[in-house]
Amino acid sequence: MPMSALPVHFEGQALAIDLHMHSTASDGALPPAEVVALCRARGLTHMALTDHDTMAGIAEAQAAARREGIRLLPGTELSTQWRGINIHVVGLLPQGPRGALIDGLASQAEARDRRACHIAARLEKIGLADALAKAREQAGSSRPLGRPDFARALVAAGVVPDIASAFKTYLGNGKPGDIKALWPYLATAVAWILEAGGVAVLAHPLRHGLTRRKRGLLLDDFAAAGGQAAELVSGFQNADVTRDLARQLQARGLYGSVGSDFHFPGGHLAPGSMSPVPRTATPPVWTHPRLAEVAAPALA
Ligand code: AMP
Ligand code: MN
Ligand code: MN
Ligand code: MN
Repeated sequence: MPMSALPVHFEGQALAIDLHMHSTASDGALPPAEVVALCRARGLTHMALTDHDTMAGIAEAQAAARREGIRLLPGTELSTQWRGINIHVVGLLPQGPRGALIDGLASQAEARDRRACHIAARLEKIGLADALAKAREQAGSSRPLGRPDFARALVAAGVVPDIASAFKTYLGNGKPGDIKALWPYLATAVAWILEAGGVAVLAHPLRHGLTRRKRGLLLDDFAAAGGQAAELVSGFQNADVTRDLARQLQARGLYGSVGSDFHFPGGHLAPGSMSPVPRTATPPVWTHPRLAEVAAPALA
């Protein structure tokens, strides 16, 4: 598969765009301005910064985007729960955080702090002493902690050989460090995004190990809550799988989004790296009326 697929050809439109990326405002490795500079260097003209449960990196990113002449759409990736599963919802927010989303982001930060205490307690039981302090040290700043910080702490302490094993044994779906109960319900997070004038995008619907039927139920509930789009392509995926997902989106009138879910350089995903979008009848999310400004040409 190609390392990058720029520009994205999506229903007759060609745009060098990536609508899902992380910075040091959450669990990404690069400061917001460096993510923007890397996007520019890779030839992107349009991007969204979508840090987990925060928009703290947007001001820095927006200033950098103006300097670099790249169009930046403010965003965030909200942690939610649906039927006992941790589901992520990307909010594309041309007007920034407003209304209930402002309190929503504050409560997400609190939920993250409380969750970190629970995760730490569970990891201490399996032998990681001072787990909270060790995760904080890995984070290297005062931002809310995420599971990757605990994963790195487990590796540093020699409990597991690598990050993948940390998730597989202790932090992944259904493992002791996977605590979902503190997150809002899917529909609540969608409502925050809608009220802020944004577009709610179901993140990486193929990455939860759901059957096609159960993914359909998720999309039903998401659309019923007012969600407008889902990521049709997230990173690298098989074209047949994408076409099948496109059918599920069309059946519910959902727009399609695209993103790399970039977190750090040197991995297999860089800004803008994702599989090509096959021909489908799914409209690109940037043609949604609420995002009309986004597809305008990049600033000179
Ligand atoms: P959190 O937002 O704190 O619940 O942590 C979830 C984050 O952990 C995801 O956004 C990924 O960045 C990372 N993650 C999840 N699963 C894995 C995995 N198997 N290996 C490496 N990182 C992962
Ligand atoms: Mn992440
Ligand atoms: Mn995610
Ligand atoms: Mn993400």
